[in-house]
Amino acid sequence: MSQLLTITDLSVSAEDKPLLHGVSLNIEHGSTHVLMGHNGAGKSTLGLAIMGSPEYTVTGGKIEFDGADITNESAYERAKRGIFLSFQNPVEIPGITLSEFLRNSLEQISGKHMKLWDFKKMLKAAMELLNMDSSYADRDLNVGFSGGEKKKAEILQLLMLEPKLAILDETDSGLDVDAVKTVSQGINEYKSRTGGSLLIITHNTKILESLAVDKTHILSAGKIVSEGGAELVYDVIENGFDRYNSKE
Ligand code: ADP
Ligand code: MG
Repeated sequence: MSQLLTITDLSVSAEDKPLLHGVSLNIEHGSTHVLMGHNGAGKSTLGLAIMGSPEYTVTGGKIEFDGADITNESAYERAKRGIFLSFQNPVEIPGITLSEFLRNSLEQISGKHMKLWDFKKMLKAAMELLNMDSSYADRDLNVGFSGGEKKKAEILQLLMLEPKLAILDETDSGLDVDAVKTVSQGINEYKSRTGGSLLIITHNTKILESLAVDKTHILSAGKIVSEGGAELVYDVIENGFDRYNSKE
């Protein structure tokens, strides 16, 4: 499989505090990767750095996506290239409905106008797949949504935007078993429909049960300390992270 994302020796700081130290990680086209590690290991930082969040400064190394060096590109440019990040804590945006937000994002990213009728049809199908009540489309984005509904709204974006790489930051945390099942169905639909790649940040095996994991990476104190196949996920769940801890 050819490379989609190539991270080489990446170091990242925020507020002059070094958070990632020489991280290298490759994601092939059409593959599903899992990123695990203690709270505070730097998982969200890595996701945000790949997305190009302005809060984080790259102090060394590079990020290449689909053959282009994107290390210095804005988050908007990266989104247009097909990188998507679902936030650990999705933001509430009063005054913009979920439907308006999605249509706007789609048009911004594709650079094309979309007919309202086509958009509505697409939205309805995606919402049905996620067992979302259609009334959510006309509610303000995430305002008054439960934790589970916010996470479903993130997966809805994934299905609508069809990125090349989806980074899902603890999209499964705080979800009940049925919601986890629905979310993994949504992820599988994304994979089969688009052939896209995934970087799933999680603490649970539940979401991984119905997904075929190709590779697992363990992050500790801002460094990749172990890599392996799907079996590594279960090893971590059984034995914990401690023996992978970075020596620093
Ligand atoms: P994880 O997602 O693995 O739990 P994070 O990436 O959120 O970990 O955080 C890693 C470390 O970086 C933590 O110590 C956190 O406090 C710190 N950190 C994250 N973002 C910032 C920021 N914007 N400014 C300063 N420190 C940050
Ligand atoms: Mg995090």
